[in-house]
Amino acid sequence: KAKEAGKGSYVLYGKAMQQHFDDRMIIEKNLRNVISNNELSLHYQPLVDVGSDQLWGFEALLRWHSPVLGFMSPLSFIKIAEDSRLIVPIGEWVLRTACQFIKDLHGKGYEGYHISVNISVIQLMLDNFTEMVLAVLQETGLAPEYLELEITESIFMESFEIISTKLNFLKKKGIGIALDDFGTGYSSLSYLKQLPITTLKIDKSFIDSIDSPNSMSLARSIVTIGHDMGLKVTAEGVETPEQLAFLERTSCDKIQGYFISRPIPQNDVMEWVDGRKVS
Ligand code: C2E
Ligand code: MG
Ligand code: MG
Ligand code: MG
Repeated sequence: KAKEAGKGSYVLYGKAMQQHFDDRMIIEKNLRNVISNNELSLHYQPLVDVGSDQLWGFEALLRWHSPVLGFMSPLSFIKIAEDSRLIVPIGEWVLRTACQFIKDLHGKGYEGYHISVNISVIQLMLDNFTEMVLAVLQETGLAPEYLELEITESIFMESFEIISTKLNFLKKKGIGIALDDFGTGYSSLSYLKQLPITTLKIDKSFIDSIDSPNSMSLARSIVTIGHDMGLKVTAEGVETPEQLAFLERTSCDKIQGYFISRPIPQNDVMEWVDGRKVS
C-alpha cells in the first residue's frame, strides 16, 4: 500500500513539475515582445523624508499587462526574465522610462524629486552596464544626483570585485546606490562595509513585526548600523501610523509604504503630488 502511495505521489510530483516548466515556458514566450507590444508600464511609489515630511521622490515598479496572461506581478516574472536574460532589454527600458518621467516632472515645475530604479544582478554583470546608465542619463538629460539604483544582496553571490568597481564608479558620478530588502539575504557586515552604497532599505518583514519587542530592537539596530557606516536608511512596507512613529523615534531617514501611498500609475502621479501639497 505504501508503495502505491509512493508511486502515486511520484506521478503527481512529475505532473506538477511538468506544469511548472510549461508555465515558465509560456511566460518566457510572452515576455519576448513585451517592449515592442507596449505591454509594460511603470508605477511610482512615493518615498518621504521622515524628518521634514517632504516628498523625496519615487521608486519605479514594473507592471506587465499581458493580453494573453492578464496582469502579471513582477514577483511572477522577474526571475524568468533574469534566467532568460530578457531582463537586459526590459531593465534598460525601465531605467530609460523612469529617468525620462522624472526629468519631465522636473520640467513641469515639480523640481527636485528623485527616482529609484531596481537593477537585476544580471544587468550589473554586463560589460557595458555603466556605459548604459550614463547613456540613459545623457539622453534624458537627468542629472545623476536624482537617480538611485536599488540592488539586492544577491550580488554577493556574483563577482564582488567587478560589481563593487562598477558601483563605485557610478557612485562617484553622484548616483545613489541602495541595498534593497536588507536583512533578508546573507550579507556579512564586513562585505557591507566594502560595498559602495549610500542607502540601506530595511526589508518589509522587519517593519511588519515592529510590534514585537525582538523585531523592534532588530529594526533599531539596522538603523544604527546604517548610520554608523555613514549610510541613509529607508524603511519599506510602512503600513501603520504606529510603525511610522517607531521609525521617527529611531531616526530612520526615509519611509515608503501603503501608509504614504500605494504605487501610482504614471499618469496619476502629478495629481497625487498636488493632493499631498494641499493636505
Ligand atoms: P521591491 O523592490 O522591494 O519593491 C517593493 C515592493 O513592495 C513592491 O512590490 C511594492 O508594491 C510593495 N510594497 C510597497 N509598500 C508596501 C506596503 O506597505 N505593504 C505591502 N504589502 N507591500 C508594499 P511589487 O511592485 O510587486 O514588486 C515586487 C518586487 O519585484 C520588487 O520588490 C522588486 O524586487 C521587483 N521589481 C519590481 N520592478 C522591478 C524592475 O523594474 N526591475 C527589477 N529587476 N525588479 C523589479
Ligand atoms: Mg526596490
Ligand atoms: Mg524593496
Ligand atoms: Mg522588498
